[in-house]
Amino acid sequence: MDHSAEIKKAVESDLLPWFAENRRSMPWRSNRTPYRVWISELMLQQTRVDQVIPYFNRFMKRFPSLKKLAEASQEDVLKMWEGLGYYSRARNLHKAARIIVSDFNGRFPDTADKIQKLPGIGSYTTAAIGSLAFNLDLAVLDGNVIRVLSRLLAYTKDPRSAAAKKELQQWANDLLVIGRAGDFNESMMELGATVCLPKNPDCGQCPLARVCTANASGRPTDYPVKAPKKKVPHIVVGAAVITNSRGEILIAQRRTEDMLGGLWEFPGGKQENGETIRQCIEREIHEELGVKIETGDFLLTVNHAYSHFTMEMHTFFAKIKSGRPKPLECQDFRWLKVKNLRDVPYSRADLKIIDALETR
Ligand code: SF4
Repeated sequence: MDHSAEIKKAVESDLLPWFAENRRSMPWRSNRTPYRVWISELMLQQTRVDQVIPYFNRFMKRFPSLKKLAEASQEDVLKMWEGLGYYSRARNLHKAARIIVSDFNGRFPDTADKIQKLPGIGSYTTAAIGSLAFNLDLAVLDGNVIRVLSRLLAYTKDPRSAAAKKELQQWANDLLVIGRAGDFNESMMELGATVCLPKNPDCGQCPLARVCTANASGRPTDYPVKAPKKKVPHIVVGAAVITNSRGEILIAQRRTEDMLGGLWEFPGGKQENGETIRQCIEREIHEELGVKIETGDFLLTVNHAYSHFTMEMHTFFAKIKSGRPKPLECQDFRWLKVKNLRDVPYSRADLKIIDALETR
């Protein structure tokens, strides 16, 4: 028997029974509906299970059905997503819920073609929803599956390349146990998340150890092979907590098409060459809201890492010297008391400013 056939056999005879015994309990694994599978799969992209569980439970309480989600405002949906990151996921799922209600009579579409046409759904999510909710024979390829496959096969290409992804997807399709795609996908992901860990794979406890090439080589962590990471850019940002005589604070809403679109923030922006941080804040506020301000006391510096850059945000109090705010380079603005600031959604970095304001 060739090696691929041996692995395929071991998946069915050893991995699936292992999964049946070791499957972790998660809220979306009980009462499994297409809606719950969809929301959990979107939340789990780029985010750990333990972080997702409270978000998932709150989301389901607030929007118990697809219809309720479709009826909600985008701001409500973003509020439930606040802090989870990658906010286009929330905007897209809201759009998709409205499409499902208007075009599919509120029933989640049950073919790969139709699922993949919904906003924010790529090949991974289509395979996850298709296999878990509709038992379609589709294999998922996420970070965990890529690691497990790369090790089983001692795969020597960098899996981030498009060609390698195509090959790995083909291997996953070949290994798939027909008729049990949901179990197959979950068992591969579970193995990657709990046994075949990035730094410390527990090969002694692995149901696939017998057929694993990386294990036989004695150097499982040599796989997946990775080219050195590129250094991510670092940006310096200035932000203002603008107060008025009524004790309110001005917040601005980011434009939908921008990064973190639809979220609210303390206005400001990126420092330009040759500018002090106070000059940066004054220029940015003028461009964004059409008012001249004077910066006052320093409040705090927030450091935050996004996927493709890191940021330090220096925050100062400020007052308007002249002009009335207009939403020139933002979607909207509001004046709110500190106690009402949390009524609308923000990114994690701006939430740290609110924490600082509340503890003053
Ligand atoms: S034997 Fe080790 S390296 Fe191979 S799949 Fe199992 S845990 Fe991963």
